[in-house]
Amino acid sequence: MTSQLLPGNIVFGGPIPVRVAQDYRSLGQYVLEKYKSFGDQTVMIDAVTGTEYNAKFMYDSIVRLAQILQKLGVKQNDVIGLSSENSVGFAIAMFAGFAVGATVAPLNVTYSDREVDHAINLSKPKVIFASKITVDRVAKVAKNNKFVKAIIALSGNSTNHPNVQLFTDLMNNDKFKTTPDFTSPTANKAEDVSLIVCSSGTTGLPKGVQLTQSNLLATLDSQIQPTMMPLSEITLLTVIPWFHAFGCLTLITTATMGTRLVYLPKFEENLFLSAIEKYRVMMAFMVPPLMVFLAKHPIVDKYDLSSLMVLLCGAAPLSRETEDQIKERIGVPFIRQGYGLSESTLSVLVQTDDFCKPGSVGVLKVGIYAKVIDPDTGKLLGPNERGELCFKGDGIMKGYIGDTKSTQTAIKDGWLHTGDIGYYDNEFEFFIVDRIKELIKYKGFQVPPAEIEALLLTNDKIKDAAVIGRPDEEAGELPMAFVVKQANVQLSEDDVITFVHERASPAKRIRGGVIFVEEIPKNPSGKILRRVLREMLKKPKSKL
Ligand code: AMP
Repeated sequence: MTSQLLPGNIVFGGPIPVRVAQDYRSLGQYVLEKYKSFGDQTVMIDAVTGTEYNAKFMYDSIVRLAQILQKLGVKQNDVIGLSSENSVGFAIAMFAGFAVGATVAPLNVTYSDREVDHAINLSKPKVIFASKITVDRVAKVAKNNKFVKAIIALSGNSTNHPNVQLFTDLMNNDKFKTTPDFTSPTANKAEDVSLIVCSSGTTGLPKGVQLTQSNLLATLDSQIQPTMMPLSEITLLTVIPWFHAFGCLTLITTATMGTRLVYLPKFEENLFLSAIEKYRVMMAFMVPPLMVFLAKHPIVDKYDLSSLMVLLCGAAPLSRETEDQIKERIGVPFIRQGYGLSESTLSVLVQTDDFCKPGSVGVLKVGIYAKVIDPDTGKLLGPNERGELCFKGDGIMKGYIGDTKSTQTAIKDGWLHTGDIGYYDNEFEFFIVDRIKELIKYKGFQVPPAEIEALLLTNDKIKDAAVIGRPDEEAGELPMAFVVKQANVQLSEDDVITFVHERASPAKRIRGGVIFVEEIPKNPSGKILRRVLREMLKKPKSKL
């Protein structure tokens, strides 16, 4: 589909050619009917254990768990938390949540106590599914949050916590009489929220992005191109965490297309490569650090990766050099970048066979409108003019949960303001050139500077602090801190790093180092001048 220029310098990706998912009564019903239609086809493979799961197993498990959840008191629009690394249990729990019309709120498995507490206080889950590695933390934090009525451990054979039930016990408990089929309740698709994912938006602390059933169903339709090879004939590898919007949405997309999805719970070099070789993987979802690994790591040469046809990379900028190195080294014919935000459900821009210029993030997906505005004046800009990218379409979130003010800042007249600076060329191919929002991206993960700054200010020895991203080839950016010490205190770089290390999840660690300064540059209203700090980084010897 070629983009069209509409009056007022608005670019449109063209209408969504097929409307299948959007006509279903609910997202849950769509997922169930899809799984039912795939029969005994293998749809998931755990690359660690080698266990294969077919669609019938998924359907039966989802249908049983959905009814158990209802018997446990979960109703339409209740929230279910999900804190697990990638596993078949994650998928079953999420889809069972959708089946009962509940909202699913995935939680980053590396979150600290403080972060889990913040996230669950945004979404207020009634039930939380946890894994062996997260269950202790979830149980501890849930004790102080009375809205959590049940915790279900997806993995493990025993539990030390009286308030935790084991998934296998629940599923095998004869007390729960369930039927082999299940009909999802009819949803108010435009209003009912199917997912709450965490994002800091353009500024401030993490917020809960509410994605409605319509957001997801329209996005699923926009993925189906009449001309493309059916994804049911493809073996696809993913190690992208399903608790992140990119991972979660690609899981839902591939599940509803009947793809043979090989998944890893976490990145491990040999396992990642051997899974490609063993299962003759044709496509893989990637983030730039994984691309750098494929481009550079010596171990890559030991494996036969000749089955790889397409690498789909998103979440952060991918350099042209890395792309070329992979093509030369492994001979992957197609590397396709995509660009999107949690707030846009999935990518809004993707490279295609015809639109994949060096450095571009591709063209608009069907159903999406874009405009570029001057970030200061709001004036609409034309081709080749750099400004803030704004998008409109059926995938744009409903808003941040419980935060009308931030929602109104992010979405104006239906347009999502991304905080990213870019432009489109004469063929409507888009390029990202800068970020005006406060976000740091470490290996594709969001690190909100305001959150680390607030944490640093809880240290009695720190008078003021500012955090920015230091450019890094492998990780994209490394969080680094500018710190003003209180008078007459001893505080070393290591002290600051350890302080954050002990209280925040791994992505937020101060890996980029600490610079002690006399003062944090701010504008008259007290806003940190991050651009000044970034400039200062470019001149390492200069002082503020
Ligand atoms: P998230 O909500 O975590 O997916 O983060 C969204 C943000 O990631 C965007 O606003 C961009 O700043 C950045 N991003 C995502 N994809 C790309 C890409 N292909 N190139 C550059 N930045 C990207």
